[in-house]
Amino acid sequence: MTSVRGRLAPSPTGRLHLGNAWAFLLAWLACRKAGGTLVLRMEDIDPDRATQDWAEEIVFDLHWLGLDWDEGPHPDGTPGETGDCGPYVQSRRGALYEQALHRLGARVYPCYCTRKELRDQLHAMAGAPHVDDRGAPYPGTCRHLTAEERAQREAGGRHPCLRLNTEGLADIVFMDALCGPQRFSLAGCGGDFALRRSDGVWAYQLAVVVDDALMGVNQVVRGEDILVSTPRQLALFDLLGWPRPAYAHIPLLCDAAGERLAKRHNSLSLRALRAAGRTPQELVGLLAFKAGLQDRPDPKTPRELLDGFTWQRLPRGPVLLDAQ
Ligand code: GLU
Repeated sequence: MTSVRGRLAPSPTGRLHLGNAWAFLLAWLACRKAGGTLVLRMEDIDPDRATQDWAEEIVFDLHWLGLDWDEGPHPDGTPGETGDCGPYVQSRRGALYEQALHRLGARVYPCYCTRKELRDQLHAMAGAPHVDDRGAPYPGTCRHLTAEERAQREAGGRHPCLRLNTEGLADIVFMDALCGPQRFSLAGCGGDFALRRSDGVWAYQLAVVVDDALMGVNQVVRGEDILVSTPRQLALFDLLGWPRPAYAHIPLLCDAAGERLAKRHNSLSLRALRAAGRTPQELVGLLAFKAGLQDRPDPKTPRELLDGFTWQRLPRGPVLLDAQ
């Protein structure tokens, strides 16, 4: 039997909030319950938003919560990392993304459309499929440009992004441990998606697949908001000939008004909660209560939850925090 390898994959683009803690606690529990190895990977590919300071604060917060990991940045904040699959920081993995891009070969093409053109094309498309903010539907405008047409656009000073040609790829079918059987057409998930932005920044979809594959991750636990990205990632796993991980997409933690917790919920950042005198055990106990792992929000350490951990009592649909 292969052993479980799970991961925590924060984006250091702001402070961790209770919603992140919820997802990371559940990912930690699922991996530890299976006796697995846990990887911490910093998803800092977006140079406009990710900073080293946020990354350090996230390591501190995770450690403070009582979550540990076996590979990745040192939990005590000292420089360097442990593990054989590093670097565990996406901004240092560009060469690996480049190799994967190369292996995708003729499936990859340059797209010269500007944002405005994409918007206009979208308006012109009847019944454009709804997709989330991780990828706008793309009608395939630049898919079959001739070498001449490409040269013309380049001569006009345009820098292309790179997209995956999803033409002819079968529907993506998979089983989610929590959401059940899934089937998506790639066209319904936005069509040909970007692998690299026009400014050279690697796209999340490619980076996450390369990292999960090369880090041997076979168990992915993450928020339901990412479910719509999973078919695109699975298409890449398949094309690159890498085994697919198992997925569990967990319901999102929302505020009392039903709005999903986000960086703007400042008072629910771990830092603010700590400053307000909350202990990590109180927060973990509350999250465990919301996950159906205990009947009352009694303080607990993550390790104390391992014995009773099961997905069985996790609520379906968004999980609401009450006003307190
Ligand atoms: N880094 C992503 C985020 O914080 C998570 C990606 C993933 O779990 O695949 O939203």
